[in-house]
Amino acid sequence: MVEMKSAFPIVIAGPSGAGKTTLARAAAARDPRLRFSISDTSRPIRESEADGRDYRFVGEREFEERIREGRYAEWAKVHGDYYGTPRSEIEEGIARGEDVVLDIDVQGCEQVRAGYPETLAVFIVPPSLSVLEKRLRERRTEPEERIRTRLENARAELERKFEYDFIVVNDRLEDAIEAVLSIIRAERCRAARLRETAGAR
Ligand code: 5GP
Repeated sequence: MVEMKSAFPIVIAGPSGAGKTTLARAAAARDPRLRFSISDTSRPIRESEADGRDYRFVGEREFEERIREGRYAEWAKVHGDYYGTPRSEIEEGIARGEDVVLDIDVQGCEQVRAGYPETLAVFIVPPSLSVLEKRLRERRTEPEERIRTRLENARAELERKFEYDFIVVNDRLEDAIEAVLSIIRAERCRAARLRETAGAR
């Protein structure tokens, strides 16, 4: 018989507005072996959000203190605010045998891969830059100057897509969710992630 060596982190990265959060949350909701990682951030809370559900909202000082204490598996300044994944989010999930889904930016992805080489990295791309712009505006979560920063950052991030294990184009949401779930399920069967157990043959 064979079994998994251990659960693994799954990074869903890509530019802001590509649909990472929707995809990562939908995948986690449909697969009981997935756990969505809740990040800390110093950015202001939005009306639609809840502390502890979407993010844990912490002050800038508190965030910097937590960086010094080494509490983050990765952290980055994204569009001017701090964002980070607490080590506990990854390690508690993995200890329970759950694959942990991280919705993070490209800087964070590199750090997670360095700390957890077994990480599966998936990059989400929008069908085009004009669709990305339209999505960011329709979201109505950011003022104009922030939308512009996000679009500029998106161009640079998109150039790095071939550094990832998989690329999913988020054109039709349902197809993209299925693609992400298929990738994860295939990855669980990868020989390198499995080991033989006693009494096998
Ligand atoms: P938003 O403010 O729109 O929720 O997120 C802005 C960006 O920050 C998104 O690209 C999101 O994926 C990224 N982000 C969210 N949480 C984290 C995190 O813990 N670490 C890193 N590096 N990026 C994050």
